[in-house]
Amino acid sequence: MPKGRKYPPDEERFWAKVQKTLSCWLWMGKPRNEWGYGQMRVNGKKEYPHRFSYILHNGSIPDGLVVCHSCDNPACVNPNHMFLGTHEDNMRDMRAKGRQNDWGRNGPGKPVRRYGPRARAKVNAG
Ligand SMILES: [Zn+2]
Repeated sequence: MPKGRKYPPDEERFWAKVQKTLSCWLWMGKPRNEWGYGQMRVNGKKEYPHRFSYILHNGSIPDGLVVCHSCDNPACVNPNHMFLGTHEDNMRDMRAKGRQNDWGRNGPGKPVRRYGPRARAKVNAG
């Protein structure tokens, strides 16, 4: 996108809430659901920011496919960190990376801490 060009309103709102780091582009907007995914409105409809970003950079998402994160950071909207897969692929990917087990990994007696995007950002930055 050349400098000086004005974004369409949906894009404008999108970029206003994105904080780019050296690796991930973090969606700072609210609300975020329990999985850490953000939410925004595009043309009056609910949309995930990472999906919106993918469409911005790649044009479209084919029917039946979901946008997966190679960086494993749900709040990330960097199109270079995304790939398309089926819902099943995504679930397998999550299992392969152990994401589903992360929720209870703190051991007995400690509260289960959910991965927040902020915690993730720290992990990625360090
Ligand atoms: Zn990322």
